[in-house]
Amino acid sequence: MLVGLLAALLFLQQSQVDVALDPGHSTADVGASGGGLHEYQLTLDLAERVKARLQAAHLTVRMTREDDRPLTPLANPGATDDIAAEQAARIAAGGPARIFISLHFNGGPTSLHGTETYFNPARADDTGDTDQVLATALQHNVIDALQSEVGYASLDRGVKSDLTAGKPYGHFFSLQGPEPSALVENLFLSNPTEAALLHDGATLDALADGCTQGVLEYFATRD
Ligand SMILES: [Zn+2]
Repeated sequence: MLVGLLAALLFLQQSQVDVALDPGHSTADVGASGGGLHEYQLTLDLAERVKARLQAAHLTVRMTREDDRPLTPLANPGATDDIAAEQAARIAAGGPARIFISLHFNGGPTSLHGTETYFNPARADDTGDTDQVLATALQHNVIDALQSEVGYASLDRGVKSDLTAGKPYGHFFSLQGPEPSALVENLFLSNPTEAALLHDGATLDALADGCTQGVLEYFATRD
């Protein structure tokens, strides 16, 4: 409750930025892992690379976290209430912004691979197709950059409604904020080929370039 109030105050006091970047997970909910890499560390590394590129393109950026710690106690990272509180705090910490992008790496059976991007089709009544347009721009630019920069043909797993992820609580909490938003699952850390690629900084640079291009493409359709 107190955390929620503080987050709401923080949201009101911050100036608007163009892009809120949310590096998924933290030391409390580490996310996927593979090849000695952990999702919470890789998402922060990627977010910092995206931030530098967006700023070079004269856009303003705010990160929801600048270190590995969660924003809330997150005592039980599997509990719906704890997940909801952490994600609400992230939205508050990132905003206000024109768009909110959450960066993740996927996990699952080792055979699964590729890139997918989620959006919440029910985020707001007046959303129109903004969130889907943003998700689509991110998805195809990330895949294009992997191909052109590191020669990796990432499987296009598509732009998906967050309900298709089958979370027990329904829509992703991170996609319920006031801004158009999308969540990119860049590659699978659980897939040995993709985990090996992610040891190479060139792959993270390609992902960062793709994400940046996606943002620029989205803003070009909206301005
Ligand atoms: Zn994740």
